[in-house]
Amino acid sequence: MPELPEVETVRRGLNRVTLAQPIQGGSVLLERTVAHPVFVREFLTGLEQCTISRWYRRGKYLLGHLVKHHQDEKATCSEPLDLLATAEDIEYAASHADHAGWLGVHLRMTGQLLWLHQSDPVQKHCRVRLFFPSQRELRFVDQRTFGQMWWVPPDRSPTEVMGKGYAALGPEPLSSAFTVDGLRQALKRRHRPIKNALLDQSIVAGIGNIYADESLFLSSIRPTKLCDRLTRKQIEALHAKIVEVLKSSIGEGGTTFSDFRDIEGINGNYGSMAWVYGRDGTPCRVCGEPIQRVKMAGRSTHFCKTCQK
Ligand SMILES: [Zn+2]
Repeated sequence: MPELPEVETVRRGLNRVTLAQPIQGGSVLLERTVAHPVFVREFLTGLEQCTISRWYRRGKYLLGHLVKHHQDEKATCSEPLDLLATAEDIEYAASHADHAGWLGVHLRMTGQLLWLHQSDPVQKHCRVRLFFPSQRELRFVDQRTFGQMWWVPPDRSPTEVMGKGYAALGPEPLSSAFTVDGLRQALKRRHRPIKNALLDQSIVAGIGNIYADESLFLSSIRPTKLCDRLTRKQIEALHAKIVEVLKSSIGEGGTTFSDFRDIEGINGNYGSMAWVYGRDGTPCRVCGEPIQRVKMAGRSTHFCKTCQK
C-alpha cells in the first residue's frame, strides 16, 4: 500500500507534468471509484476546462487545486512546489480569484496515477481517465478498486466532502505540527500496542505498515509494546526516527513494494534498504538474529527480538 513517501513521490511527479494545462474531459470506467459527487457526469463536468495549479498532499491523500483555465496561461509554475496541504494552505488556495475546487485522490491498496499518451493501450484495471492537451492523459489504474477520487466543488472544503478519514487526519510528520509533546499526549492514554497506534491516521498522518515497522526498529521499540508504557526517551527516539525514515525514503523515490510506481512508471529504491520490513527469517542487519514476523491487527509486523525491547 502506498504510504507517505510513495504518495509524496507521486505528488512531485504530478507537479512536474500536469500543471497549467486544461483538463479537456475524461471518462469514468468504474463508477464507484468516484466517491463524490454521486453522479460521475457531475465529477467530469466539474473538472472540465479547469487547470491544476498545483498538487498538495495531506497524509496519504493527494489534492489537486483547480483553477479556471485562461487561454493565455503559461505552462509553468514558478512557485515552490514542496508545500504540504495544511489547513492554512487549503484556505489560502481557496481564496484564489479563479478557485474552482479540488481534485482529491486516495490510492488505497493498489491505486496508481500514470501520465500516459491517450493512444497507450488501456489497462484492464483502468478506472478513470482524464484527458489533457497534446493527447496526454492522467490515468487512474487500480486493481483492488479501493482507491477513490473526489471532485470538491469550489464552495465547499475537502474536509466537508472527502469523508471522516480525511477530516480526522493527525499531524503531518514532516511538518512543525508533529512534535514530541504532541505524540506523547496522543500515546499516553492509549493502552494498545504502539504498532497499531502508528497505523492510526489520527495520531500521525501518512504512516502505514512499512514505515511503522521501520521506525520502530530504528528506535529499538518492540511493536507489541503498549503505548502507555513507553518512556519519554522512547517517544523522543520514535519521533526522530519516524521523520528520518520518511525523509530517507522520499529521497529514494518510495519503496519497491506493493507494485508501487511513480507516475512515469518508475519503481522506488527504499525496499532494498529496509531494516526489517519484508525481511522475516533473514539476519538482522545489526545483531544477526533472524527477523521475526507476527500478525498484529491483521497486518504483518516485522521486528528483531534482540534489538527491540
Ligand atoms: Zn537485531
